[in-house]
Amino acid sequence: MTRADNILLSVVIPVYNEMDVLKEFQQRLISVINNLPMSCEIIYVNDGSNDNTLDMLQQLHESNDQVAIVDLSRNFGKEIALSAGLHHAQGDGVIVIDADLQDPPELIPELICEWQNGYDVVYAKRNRRTGESAFKKVTAHLFYRIMRRFGSVKLPEDTGDFRILSRRAVDALNSLGEQHRFMKGLFTWIGFSQKAVFYDRDPRHAGESKWNYWRLLNLAVEGITSFTTAPLKFASLFGFITAFGAFAYGIFMLIRTLLYSNPVAGYPSLIVVVLFLGGTQLMAIGILGEYIGRIFTETKRRPLYFLNNYLPPRQKNKTENKIKK
Ligand code: UDP
Ligand code: MG
Repeated sequence: MTRADNILLSVVIPVYNEMDVLKEFQQRLISVINNLPMSCEIIYVNDGSNDNTLDMLQQLHESNDQVAIVDLSRNFGKEIALSAGLHHAQGDGVIVIDADLQDPPELIPELICEWQNGYDVVYAKRNRRTGESAFKKVTAHLFYRIMRRFGSVKLPEDTGDFRILSRRAVDALNSLGEQHRFMKGLFTWIGFSQKAVFYDRDPRHAGESKWNYWRLLNLAVEGITSFTTAPLKFASLFGFITAFGAFAYGIFMLIRTLLYSNPVAGYPSLIVVVLFLGGTQLMAIGILGEYIGRIFTETKRRPLYFLNNYLPPRQKNKTENKIKK
């Protein structure tokens, strides 16, 4: 790693009810950061926690002059919290990391090395998943397959948000105004030179994951609808094929009736066809609805979040120079 006193590094951490791990996280982060040959700011984004997290953050802010707090007005979800942190980061390089110690802070020097080698986005890629069910692994794999096949971006698999971003990558992300922020997709979508660094992911240190299957499903739908219109194409292709089949069958019936008169066919086949068509129509309308719903929220052009408070790092010197520039 090259020495650079005039370089500022920002670490952005979204936190939501993380009082159980926060102390430990801060300790491990600090012991890594103190050995870095550059100055750092640590930006905690409090995503509307309803436990003691904010108090603990304020204590950290008082005891450590590198710590900044972005306090959101309510829980906006991790993706928005991350965006809020990126908006406030002043650094030349910005690290994004979870507070639950699933992303080991000890990997940060390696990320920085690659960043200094000129990569704009250096992401941490898990070697293996520990403590996750087979169902989650299979569904996760399926999701990445769909995204790779139909999305405009090639999402790296087994990759979370843990990464370092160059200044221009952060500026690119900050320029995106959309409400539906599927960060994993956006990180890749902005392009620039990207590089993976491998590591073993630990199970959560304490507390519990805020992602249940329902939220993961929503995240997957978010990812797919934000980056592909493939479901729309499927719906119309499917409609076209069924209509064509129905047409061909109609002709067949006509000819048969003309040749052999009209023996009345069973009622069951009729009801099957009616229900099948009704079902597929509802499904197609549902898919349309997903997209229209997103158009609806995007057209309101609401701000992404509101701030309760922003406490900048007390270590003014370098950060302030940056702001003046
Ligand atoms: N998080 C957040 N807002 C939320 C949910 C989570 O800021 O609404 C933060 C959380 O505090 C943690 C990170 O996002 O630092 C990852 O959350 P979690 O560990 O629950 O997700 P997982 O690791 O299971 O994907
Ligand atoms: Mg986690």
